Amino acid sequence: MAANDCIFCQISSGAIPAQKLFEDGHVFAIRDIRPQAPVHVLVIPKRHVPSLWELEDETLAGALLAAAARIARDEGLAEGWRLIANTREHGGQEVPHLHLHVLGGRKLGRMLER
Ligand code: 5GP
Ligand code: ZN
Repeated sequence: MAANDCIFCQISSGAIPAQKLFEDGHVFAIRDIRPQAPVHVLVIPKRHVPSLWELEDETLAGALLAAAARIARDEGLAEGWRLIANTREHGGQEVPHLHLHVLGGRKLGRMLER
């Protein structure tokens, strides 16, 4: 169910316009509005799933991962990149609609700050 107050549902439905780098039947990809690396792309399910905690649909899981890998290749990240799924409060999730961050284009630092 699309949530009217959910920013990614609004982008998914086209209510808020955004340039999509990739789209298939399950997911779409957009550049992060506040990029934290030269390449910072969000891979987002079209339907509202609050976070990775709630993800049980293996087809959607596969589509998300395949789209992330495809974006990394399309963006030329052969030297390496990172996939992040911030999940729920302790994971630092700010937008409560599942998304994967594809990050790269420079040597990334430590995986976690202490
Ligand atoms: P989270 O902390 O939930 O994993 O990350 C949410 C991400 O969504 C942040 O990196 C933030 O910059 C990005 N973001 C939030 N609102 C928008 C938006 O309206 N458009 C785009 N392209 N990115 C957004
Ligand atoms: Zn949503």
